[in-house]
Amino acid sequence: MRLPPNNSIATPMIRKAVELGINYFETSATYCQNRSEIQVGLGLKGLRDSVYISTKSHVNRKDQTSFSGRVPKDSSGEDFKNVLKESLHKLGTDRVDFYQFHGLTLENLPIALAEEGPLDALKDAKDHGQIGHIGFTSHDTTENLIKILDTGEFESMTVYHNILQTGGHRPYENPLPAIEHARKMGVGVIIMGPLGGGILGIPIEDLRKFIPETSSQVELAFRYLLSIQGITTPISGMTRMSDVEENAKIASEYKPLSRSEMKTVKKFALNYVALTERFCTGCGYCQPCPQGVRIPEVFRLMNINSIYGVEKWAKEQYTRLRQGGPLGRGSAELCIQCGQCEKKCPQKISIRDDLKKAHSALTSA
Ligand code: SF4
Ligand code: SF4
Repeated sequence: MRLPPNNSIATPMIRKAVELGINYFETSATYCQNRSEIQVGLGLKGLRDSVYISTKSHVNRKDQTSFSGRVPKDSSGEDFKNVLKESLHKLGTDRVDFYQFHGLTLENLPIALAEEGPLDALKDAKDHGQIGHIGFTSHDTTENLIKILDTGEFESMTVYHNILQTGGHRPYENPLPAIEHARKMGVGVIIMGPLGGGILGIPIEDLRKFIPETSSQVELAFRYLLSIQGITTPISGMTRMSDVEENAKIASEYKPLSRSEMKTVKKFALNYVALTERFCTGCGYCQPCPQGVRIPEVFRLMNINSIYGVEKWAKEQYTRLRQGGPLGRGSAELCIQCGQCEKKCPQKISIRDDLKKAHSALTSA
């Protein structure tokens, strides 16, 4: 959960969420500068049996540094056991309902599946009642998600999806075939990014034009996801009590989108894809940049800024990237033009040039 740092705000939010029927809480060993699990545990004190708790940890990527915070030191089974122990301690519980590999890819899957490695450790923990189900979260391509599912080792999958991607034909942008594959295998699907990282919380003229009868984009975004067979639940980072109340209301009063509404949504998304054809897919293969430039994030903000006419929001986010948040600074001006990223980009984007253009667009008055 993307919780506010102050426990006197976060705890009542969590308790309100449970009161309103929200029963799936997703956290991570590394979220919120490592404090998310502690906050979730605190908020759920005495309510443990009414909810599902999910937490996760990364397997190290061979040639990549980790995100901020605690990650397994060497991705051995022993180390994963220690990370799980630490998570249970922070959560104040003796079991989690879901434990997921954080950011699993086809490339780093062999690390997870190694003999006596992380998966074996988690299976052992499952046998001892510390874990209910083993799953993974991923930003990999649809094709690779299906291959990961086909190992038959996972009971849940958390992937990124929202209305804006429904018309996408590139693998990253449209995980729907993987979601359907998971459904057929009986694997639970959790959706992250239901609001496109906050974009759908901002009034988008184009979207309103396509769905004029929609009173709230947030409602539409959730209705879209809840209408897709195979999606078990969307998860949404909530930072205010009003987010909790709004999301719970939408879920409890939700009606599936009709066939014609779904068609309209697709029409909007196809229009979006046509506009974004030449842009970054957010795959992250160019990361990490030795200078810390968060390339996919810069391009995402560039897209928002140029396509949707929500410049103010995009520029504010970019200012934060320049100033540095929990993950540090990551704006385009840090680039020293070394060119390493371009060799790794499957879209063959001229990253160095496009970063300059993005910086200029996102800092213009
Ligand atoms: S060219 Fe710039 S963005 Fe790319 S890896 Fe080098 S410093 Fe980072
Ligand atoms: S710049 Fe290229 S490699 Fe980096 S996230 Fe975008 S598409 Fe992927």
